[in-house]
Amino acid sequence: MSIELWKEVFSNVRENVDAYLSSEEIRSTYRDPNTSIEFVVDDLCHSVNAFAGRVAINRYRIRICAGLAAYLRESAVETIESGWIFKEQSSSDPVRRSRLIDYLMYIWLDFVCFHEWSHVICGHHSVGGSGEQWSEFEVQRDEKGKLPAEVNQRLEVEADAYAAKFTLARFSTIWQGLAHEIYGTAVPEMVLRDYLMSLLLLFRAFEKIDGKDCAERSHPEPIDRAFVVHSFMMGEFSGIPGLPNLGKKEVESIFSRVLLDFYLLHFGLSAETLLPRILQSATFMASVDDMLKKLKMDQYRVAVRR
Ligand SMILES: [Zn+2]
Repeated sequence: MSIELWKEVFSNVRENVDAYLSSEEIRSTYRDPNTSIEFVVDDLCHSVNAFAGRVAINRYRIRICAGLAAYLRESAVETIESGWIFKEQSSSDPVRRSRLIDYLMYIWLDFVCFHEWSHVICGHHSVGGSGEQWSEFEVQRDEKGKLPAEVNQRLEVEADAYAAKFTLARFSTIWQGLAHEIYGTAVPEMVLRDYLMSLLLLFRAFEKIDGKDCAERSHPEPIDRAFVVHSFMMGEFSGIPGLPNLGKKEVESIFSRVLLDFYLLHFGLSAETLLPRILQSATFMASVDDMLKKLKMDQYRVAVRR
């Protein structure tokens, strides 16, 4: 991608996030009206990463590194070529293909921004520059000063759950325009299915850069993340105005089909191993609240929990 195009991507992302973060509705959820959240795309940092942290009293910064944007771009190209998504959309036409890549990358970056923002409002704060994350609350660290994986992974689940809600709300405002641009005639089922699948594929892309060893992993396994996003979106779907007008049954069946596709095709799980694995995800998710209580996370939240 040319430098000009990158600049455009960065400024689009920044504008989108700025507009969202400064909206009255969002600001009214902050406990302290003086809270400010700054968003930067760090075009000099080539690490595949994003950070959220507190820089001063009431001031927070979300930083998306250029390396992450580049990685997502590469993964989007690979994903479109693989035909795992937009199945009805031919990607042999280069213009069309690049539009699909852009769309996928847009959804992914949007999710990443919301995920980082969720860390901030949920109180998962790091203080100062690089180095330790989440250093404001009391928790036993290992000899390297790192948070135990069991804590970190549960904070990640909370951020994913919030991000699922926020991105769904955002999707409600863009899906019709997108449907027209990407699909020609809008078929709500198709748009929703591809949208959900795109998020699940994002977790798969992230797995490649996270450790394979569970104890080392900073994030939960993609299967668990998929489960969290899936459950939260299912729960929120009827409460968000402007989403494709589908009945509860239809939404449920679309969501289940996507999840099944994702597990069977992308993880090669057999139908028999799938059920116990899903139960495992549910158990993991159910343990999140206890951990948040143990960390007394409510004390650190920037926004009122709703
Ligand atoms: Zn995170």
